[in-house]
Amino acid sequence: MKLPICDFDAKNSLLCMQCENKLQEGQLSQADVDASIKLAKLAKENSDIDKFTLHSCKEIDGNYVIALSKEDIMTIRQSRTLYRQLQDQFTGKIWLVEAEENDKKFIEDMFFPTKILSINSVWAPGGIQKTKAIVSGKWTPRFPINTETVIQIVKNARNLDIEIEFEHKKR
Ligand SMILES: [Zn+2]
Repeated sequence: MKLPICDFDAKNSLLCMQCENKLQEGQLSQADVDASIKLAKLAKENSDIDKFTLHSCKEIDGNYVIALSKEDIMTIRQSRTLYRQLQDQFTGKIWLVEAEENDKKFIEDMFFPTKILSINSVWAPGGIQKTKAIVSGKWTPRFPINTETVIQIVKNARNLDIEIEFEHKKR
């Protein structure tokens, strides 16, 4: 397992001087530390998680944006149980994103498993550039993803203003 903090620290829920300094200097966030400890705890009983590479965890208003390697995301998406185990560790909703991905991929990950048909830059009134994402299908009250939360997370994590539209408009 690769974590933003030392394995030893994660397994023992404490920070060595070096990691403590990184936290103080802002190279690490408290969410990075907490997520590392949570993953280390799960890894004790789960060999899949023990192979994970956690790049970072960002807390945005009670949401947790967890950046993992591509293979890890694929592993989790194939197992509802694994997803639940991970989600159960966090007090807020988890959002799984691939580490070092571009803005487009990030937005796609936010909506997974719903497909995004297109992502384009548009000019909004007032000369503000926005990124418009078109989501396949139409919005229903059962749509599982809170689009307001997505807008907020994308703004915070990627500094992008996005506008979300559905393929079929409500009428
Ligand atoms: Zn350490």
